[in-house]
Amino acid sequence: MATETSKLVVTKNVDQAYQKYRQLKLEVDAWQQERRSYWLVNLSLAEESPYLPIADLPQDAIIELWQRLNISAKVEITDAALREMWEQLEQGQNDMDPEMATRLQMAVSGVAKLASQTVDEKGVPEQKYNPRASENPEKNLTVCPVCGEITTLTVLTEPDGKRMMHCTTCSFEWPVQRTGCLFCGSEDSKKLLYLDNEAFPGIEMAVCEVCGQYFKEIDGRRLPVKDYVWEDLRTLPLNYATEHWLEEQVKKNNQIN
Ligand SMILES: [Zn+2]
Ligand SMILES: [Zn+2]
Repeated sequence: MATETSKLVVTKNVDQAYQKYRQLKLEVDAWQQERRSYWLVNLSLAEESPYLPIADLPQDAIIELWQRLNISAKVEITDAALREMWEQLEQGQNDMDPEMATRLQMAVSGVAKLASQTVDEKGVPEQKYNPRASENPEKNLTVCPVCGEITTLTVLTEPDGKRMMHCTTCSFEWPVQRTGCLFCGSEDSKKLLYLDNEAFPGIEMAVCEVCGQYFKEIDGRRLPVKDYVWEDLRTLPLNYATEHWLEEQVKKNNQIN
């Protein structure tokens, strides 16, 4: 009986988290529609990737969207106070209220997405991303060519399971090698383990035994996803489970040696 109750609580929390996220996401979408053409003029893409790093995004655009999200969440705060909070964050003071930090994160992503849409429209040549790690070992395939942030989410796309990297910051997608580790370039398929859980069908955690890093892979042919950021959040228990699994492996290996 006790287990059933705790199971229900988990579901309810995810539901509430989703409602909150959804409300903010709709606000971001509306802002993009209304303000896109205004801010696009202010975005200039670099010649080489990263085309528009997060640090170069127009601060005013982020404050504008962040404030809009605060209003939507019924939080009263001045623009000046937001700027001050952000400055403190940049100086390494990390004491922002978690909900405020989430809204900032969504505002940054919302603005970054304008940049990734621009790159999509302009069509940057595919080969620029160097989709094979082994041919370019110093280049990390998990770094987004548009915003320069690291992502650990890949999607196998219709119809033939082509592997795309999906940036959870700016939503940009780029093709990567179908097999092997995206971090260290190891192509030894025996060293890349896939872990899954029946509660999350269509999602696998790929763990590299060579470098000890992992990424999340969504099979888009089995699990059509509309919002990858939410899907990544919803399935965070898989990340925790993978980290736990990795810790256990380290313990086991220490015992053997
Ligand atoms: Zn990105
Ligand atoms: Zn690796």
